[in-house]
Amino acid sequence: MAVERDILETDILIVGAGPAGLALAYHLANLVKRDGSVAMPEVFLMDKGSYVGAHSLSGAVMDPRGLAELIPDFKEKGAPLEAPVSADSFVFLSEQGSVKSPFMPPPLKNHGNYVISLNKLTGWMAKQVESMGVDIYAGLAGFELLVENGRVTGVQTVDMGLDKDGSPRSNFEPGSIIKAKVTVLCEGTHGSLTRQAAEKIPELRANSIPQSYLTGIKEVWEIPAGRVRAGEVIHTVGFPQSSHEYGGGWIYGMTDTMVSTGYCVGLDSPDPTNDSHGKFQRYKLHPFMRKILNGGTMLHYGAKTVPVGGYYSMPKLVHEGLLICGDAAGMLNARKLKGVHLAIKSGIAAAETLFVAAKTGDYSRQSLDTYARSFDQSWAGRELYAVRNFHSAFEGGLFAGVFHAGMQMLTGGRGLFDRRAHKADHEYMLTLAEYRKKFSRDPQKPQVRFDNSYTFDKVTDVYKSGTMHEEHQPSHLVIADYDICNTRCTEEYGNPCQHFCPASVYNIVDDPTRADKQKLELTPSNCVHCKTCDIADPYQVIRWVVPQGGEGPNYTNC
Ligand SMILES: Cc1cc2nc3c(=O)[nH]c(=O)nc-3n(C[C@H](O)[C@H](O)[C@H](O)COP(=O)(O)OP(=O)(O)OC[C@H]3O[C@@H](n4cnc5c(N)ncnc54)[C@H](O)[C@@H]3O)c2cc1C
Ligand code: SF4
Repeated sequence: MAVERDILETDILIVGAGPAGLALAYHLANLVKRDGSVAMPEVFLMDKGSYVGAHSLSGAVMDPRGLAELIPDFKEKGAPLEAPVSADSFVFLSEQGSVKSPFMPPPLKNHGNYVISLNKLTGWMAKQVESMGVDIYAGLAGFELLVENGRVTGVQTVDMGLDKDGSPRSNFEPGSIIKAKVTVLCEGTHGSLTRQAAEKIPELRANSIPQSYLTGIKEVWEIPAGRVRAGEVIHTVGFPQSSHEYGGGWIYGMTDTMVSTGYCVGLDSPDPTNDSHGKFQRYKLHPFMRKILNGGTMLHYGAKTVPVGGYYSMPKLVHEGLLICGDAAGMLNARKLKGVHLAIKSGIAAAETLFVAAKTGDYSRQSLDTYARSFDQSWAGRELYAVRNFHSAFEGGLFAGVFHAGMQMLTGGRGLFDRRAHKADHEYMLTLAEYRKKFSRDPQKPQVRFDNSYTFDKVTDVYKSGTMHEEHQPSHLVIADYDICNTRCTEEYGNPCQHFCPASVYNIVDDPTRADKQKLELTPSNCVHCKTCDIADPYQVIRWVVPQGGEGPNYTNC
């Protein structure tokens, strides 16, 4: 039965109220106000989190350049900055030991930056946007990108009140169709509409190297005073990963008694038991970490992927009726692991283009193309270009990576290889047989004992993310073929989803219908929306789609 849907019309539809989407809305309203000769175009800004910031998670050390350009008096206006960076260190961790680098690699210097909680910052930015007269619709999730005759025409929001089997319940509310002259995707990392855009409009990624991701696991801890100062920034490489694996850890002093700590794990790993959550829990067992966290209390947990492919992995930023900003477009400086300032700058550049479009009434592709050009020529575009080959430097492991990254710094980012090919992350995963052949052993995922006071199992951690999903709804993890999961994947890879999901959504249980066999069982209500499964599944049969709006994590202080 065809469902009747409300149709709303707007000028500009922004999907995602993270730094990119909020900066766009604020700057556009500001330009209109300052100009005084043009009416504010209608802006519809939506976010799938239950409040703005509910799905914002970052390290985070912020380079203030983007925010200072957007709101020069951000400090006077009370932007929530935890602390200015007061000290920087870079530490190599072996199994038990630690060596502090005698000098700070220049790209990792954080003088002038701020330790922040992204979710507090986006909450504050939302207030600034609303004070400019723009409404934000939190709890509204974009389900499908609408493309007609090659032109993006808007978004259909998600249906609410469906039962597990997809049949409508008494509270069924069909999603609306929001038609817009321009849809701006500010969905953040591996956006579900951004993925649809790439599928429906292949030219968007025709010249891009596949994107590459890390899964970042984060906990916020209250710790005894005297261990880490407010504003102290510590980056680590090494333990618990080997030098062949991409990633590293951090401790950021939010106050004298509260730290953000986490570990990022590359998804281009050969290991089918790669488990970012398990690695982070081991990380905390290192003596260096124990000295900081012992006796403290874990307050918050979260996980999210980070797009680190760089400049050559970015899609085209413009199409008819479409702009893409921020992490959705892969605008992240992988060398610094920073994207907040770049996301804000992309929102500013998009606003400037849309302001001209509103003034002239010209929303054509030609008019929108200015956004791509002006972003590319801006300090943000130049920053991304200068680190364009950073991620590929580490293709041969940490030590080769340090060498290549050094060469890149000497050659303006080019290094020895420019635009080195990179496969999609899931293509790096080896089957168990291939792994045995290559490493002469089975994958050895170290077992961590979770005491749930210092090291936490996934379910306890999920509880600390405030995640909520209505049980009665279709699974938002759509498995195209369960047979593959329960037969081929079990034999070939040993069901890596049970390892790579940091929220225990994928579990392997006894199959009552097949003697001595097991099957995959899902608990979608645990999902923290990190998107790892959609990226890392070796058969690409898992599709992450949005659940009902307002569900998922409810991050605070993350
Ligand atoms: C572990 C980790 C550590 C990091 N550390 C740092 C750091 O120290 N410094 C730094 O500068 N950067 C850091 N980053 C990167 C930084 O967080 C991002 O670059 C930045 O948040 C990107 O902003 P954005 O607006 O593009 O996307 P996001 O901040 O991800 O915001 C996207 C928004 O879109 C919403 N959304 C997504 N899909 C939909 C949909 N279909 N419908 C409706 N709403 C939707 C989401 O709910 C979210 O609120 C880190 C990231 C991670 C994960
Ligand atoms: S189900 Fe997928 S998106 Fe959700 S937490 Fe697990 S890996 Fe992340």
